[in-house]
Amino acid sequence: MAVEISNLSTALAHEEEKILACVHCGLCLEACPTYVATADENDGPRGRIYLMRAVKEGRLKSDSPTFETHIDRCLGCRACEAACPAGVQYGLLLEAARAEISKSPAKQTWVYRILHFVLRHVWLQPGRLRFAFGFARLMRDSGFAKFMLRTGIARGMSPRFEFAMALLEGSRAATKPRGEQSAGKMPANRPQDAGAPTAGAPMLFKGCVTESLFKRVNDATQRVLTVNGCATQSPESQVCCGALHAHAGDLEGARKLARQNIDAFAKGSNGDDAAPIITNAGGCGAMLVSYGHLLADDPNYAERAKEFSERVRDVGQQLHALAFRNGASIDYERTTYDASCHLQHGQHAADASLGMLWAMPDLNFALLTGSDVCCGGAGVYNMLEPELSQEVLIEKLKHINESGAVVLATANPGCHMQIAAGAALAGVKLKVVHPVELLDESYRRAGFYEKQTVEI
Ligand code: SF4
Ligand code: SF4
Repeated sequence: MAVEISNLSTALAHEEEKILACVHCGLCLEACPTYVATADENDGPRGRIYLMRAVKEGRLKSDSPTFETHIDRCLGCRACEAACPAGVQYGLLLEAARAEISKSPAKQTWVYRILHFVLRHVWLQPGRLRFAFGFARLMRDSGFAKFMLRTGIARGMSPRFEFAMALLEGSRAATKPRGEQSAGKMPANRPQDAGAPTAGAPMLFKGCVTESLFKRVNDATQRVLTVNGCATQSPESQVCCGALHAHAGDLEGARKLARQNIDAFAKGSNGDDAAPIITNAGGCGAMLVSYGHLLADDPNYAERAKEFSERVRDVGQQLHALAFRNGASIDYERTTYDASCHLQHGQHAADASLGMLWAMPDLNFALLTGSDVCCGGAGVYNMLEPELSQEVLIEKLKHINESGAVVLATANPGCHMQIAAGAALAGVKLKVVHPVELLDESYRRAGFYEKQTVEI
């Protein structure tokens, strides 16, 4: 039975203990990109928690402009959680606060109306979502987005539209199609040919954005895991993880998707319901590990959600557990790594993701200053709060430029598109890739696939 958030004060009241855990020490302030950008206490975690407490205690209305503005301006990056000595679970507080304000009549601007319409009537309907992503791919692959950017038409329409086109363009493969596959060959032991799954065979969570715009990353994930003796299954009935809904305050939408995924991943085809669930997107992974909390009050799903969350791991963590193979040198130009906030603070798996790069001998690697700081993408934040998002992004691009890197690896499609779009619009030469794409290339050069290729 679904548990509805039925009135404006319920969501925050439910999280009272987490609000009271904040002792207002302020140690989180310098870790907060929006506080650093605006120097406004209300744009920092401590100030936002103060506002949440005021709403919970009835001293401030949840539809007041002060509350809405400062909660809206939060990136949800959760860097404050890592800095907090009191263990305040800020991410969960933010979701509750957004659930409060999403119902406010004052919140009904056209941007929010469109967002909530799309989340409700497209994102919750797999057929419509496939159609929408198919249309997005058509705009990208037909050259429409590039044309709009190159001719300046997109800029003339609005800076927001120009950035949206740049995001779409930023999802293109940064590297050339590899000869092996463009010639029409595939590894013979590709996952779909891997035979009957062995006990505990992991299940791949594909993610709606990744599967639609970055299918190459899912393919690389499957190849790399297979080479390490870990062929994956991938349930057909899986759906979006629900992160966009949760971040936008639509917790019921997020719960609906969570229940569908828990059912979809209930058992592997070998009947194993404890198989690891592998993700390669930090945003999805952080959402999947929060299902236990999201459905804690649902009597039918609470226990199953908790078990589901315990099975989730990033591909970097899975490879690490397998003591994965080193590949060959990939001879790339200078490469750096940017940690996805949610991979880092939601899944605590950023180091495991970076570890994929260490499997490539002689990688020309440069450390990135502020790699642990948000890029300003944050789901659809870049569309909703474009000015602040740009400020945060400019800082990121400045550090990338200082590193001298021309290749950047990051493990989340939102960060990927945000950084690629920002770099392209700023005229910065940068290829953005997922770490597993580089490892895949390294394995190809090591001949791990070639020995087992067949014509298809
Ligand atoms: S989630 Fe990020 S932007 Fe929001 S308060 Fe915490 S550190 Fe600041
Ligand atoms: S959230 Fe944590 S670090 Fe920030 S003020 Fe509260 S107790 Fe201190």
